[in-house]
Amino acid sequence: MKYFLLPLGCQMNRSDTERVRTVLHGMGFTETDKEEEATILGVIACSVRQKGIDKVYSRILKWNEMKRNHNCITFVSGCILPADRERFVKLFDLVFTMNELPDLPDMIRQYGVFIPTKNNDSVIDTDAETRLIASIPNIHNVILQKNGAPYINKVVNPSANMDRFWVIEPDHLSDFEAFIPIQNGCNKFCTYCAVPYTRGREVSRKSEDIIAELKELVDKGYKSITLLGQNVNSYGLDKKGEEINFAELLRRIGEYGDASGKEFWVYFTSPHPRDMSDEVIEVISQYKCLGKQIHLPIQSGDDNMLQRMNRKHTLEDYRHIIHTIRRLLPEATIFTDIIVGFTGETEEEFENSRKAMEEFKYNMAYIAQYSVRPGAVASSWADDVPKAKKRERYHILTDELMKHSLVYNQGLIGKTQKVLVTGYDRKNGYLTGHTEGKIVIRFQSRDKSLIGQIVTVKVTSATALSIEGIIM
Ligand code: SF4
Repeated sequence: MKYFLLPLGCQMNRSDTERVRTVLHGMGFTETDKEEEATILGVIACSVRQKGIDKVYSRILKWNEMKRNHNCITFVSGCILPADRERFVKLFDLVFTMNELPDLPDMIRQYGVFIPTKNNDSVIDTDAETRLIASIPNIHNVILQKNGAPYINKVVNPSANMDRFWVIEPDHLSDFEAFIPIQNGCNKFCTYCAVPYTRGREVSRKSEDIIAELKELVDKGYKSITLLGQNVNSYGLDKKGEEINFAELLRRIGEYGDASGKEFWVYFTSPHPRDMSDEVIEVISQYKCLGKQIHLPIQSGDDNMLQRMNRKHTLEDYRHIIHTIRRLLPEATIFTDIIVGFTGETEEEFENSRKAMEEFKYNMAYIAQYSVRPGAVASSWADDVPKAKKRERYHILTDELMKHSLVYNQGLIGKTQKVLVTGYDRKNGYLTGHTEGKIVIRFQSRDKSLIGQIVTVKVTSATALSIEGIIM
């Protein structure tokens, strides 16, 4: 018996998908990439852009069409706005939030689909509706619609009881790179973003569980581990007095890294500038295993715009963080996220973003041309910067990025870099990977046993987006 999963959106959704896989595998299902083979069809939705939600609708219409001659059950979870949730319950068999994932086996069994038995034969649950009704008191979020189909109540806080979810051991998609969710939800309410409405308020996971998961990964030989959270560095702030803060969490990971004697890199994403203390940067500078790469979203280089975005910091606050990184971590690479064409962005405000890019000399920038995110505060504001203007500003910032990343990458020529080998390069006979600073690199080799290992490479050439070298 097989399942098909469609994860959409960010790294958090991909990480959540690994726990969904565990639950389905625990029920005896195996994964397929062919929808028509699957008994369970699920989407891990993303509401950041309307495009993502449109994909969910087009997929469920297709699956419901398939259901005419195919016995299957459909579900949707992930980042879903309340308004979409109301519509999804009429289209999907099951709608649940990640904190309800432990209930998925019950929901599926009670729905009446083929359930794999131990010897992989199938049995048919013929009395599903009766048992569904009988089970209602045990499934707190399911009520019956008039037609007897299950209906999922509006969830007040999708972030509550996340411990039930985190305790599930993830079924990792890679055996050398992994994510560890350390926090869920967001309290920041940036005006362009819907995450606080889809994922709820910030909730931090127990530090001892995070460290235990990390140790297990390191023992298994994982080389790159990324701590995940919508506001990863506000870790612990929701549990002041009972939980450690983000800097202390990194310190404990760093101490373990030193004691283990193993080589691995720990990253985190995405931090909010407002919670980026000097202490966090100091701790990163003290421990070898804490990756010397910082992803620090700027979003805009203009104070008025930052205020309209409700980012709760100024450009000067941001500058202080960059200066501290450059002072304490001179070897660190810095990545950012930046939006062009947000509501009302003037030439002057955009120029301040360009100047910020010039000043901070990023190694990588994820530049977004603003599009309305349904459910966000700004979705009721005019999206008044013309598309052509957004595109023009996007290209100006891309040129700015390339200028600086090229200079940085050329500066690596002749130097050696530690490289995590991640796979085959598109160029035949080459392997690809990334440096500790997450600069993409390739080198000549056909030795596939190197994939998942950290090797030393001498850099021989560079472009703005990648470097090339020879293995030492
Ligand atoms: S900090 Fe802002 S952009 Fe990030 S998840 Fe929260 S609201 Fe969205």
